[in-house]
Amino acid sequence: MEILLSKRLIKTHGTNNPSRIASETNLVVLYEDLGKNTWGYYSCINRIPCIHINCRLDGFSATFALAHELGHHFLHPGVNTPFLRKSTLFSIEKIEREANRFALYLLIGEAQPEINETKCNFLKRCGIPEEFHVFY
Ligand SMILES: [Zn+2]
Repeated sequence: MEILLSKRLIKTHGTNNPSRIASETNLVVLYEDLGKNTWGYYSCINRIPCIHINCRLDGFSATFALAHELGHHFLHPGVNTPFLRKSTLFSIEKIEREANRFALYLLIGEAQPEINETKCNFLKRCGIPEEFHVFY
């Protein structure tokens, strides 16, 4: 489900860039100071969906957090999702696992592993840091 969805979005939007997909979906993305531990969260107030990302994040974690919250928007509309924290990144909660898988497959985009290429090499080639490989 979450893998198919990520592929469908990439096709529809012609990109796997989560901020471009968010803006083409008219989703508000706010960059706020959420402190040391929170990466982001998804809120839906008065039916206006909004993604909040910690402006302290940089590089891959910022992109991953946005992709994760984007996953909640499409996979779990109307659900009160937990804050994404570094400490809960590897949560076993179903909606969190789904959002993480969605995020990873979105960021992989249309890349395919080569024959005989290890999972680790493939994901590294896609720019995915090792700690995120468990979502593949
Ligand atoms: Zn989440």
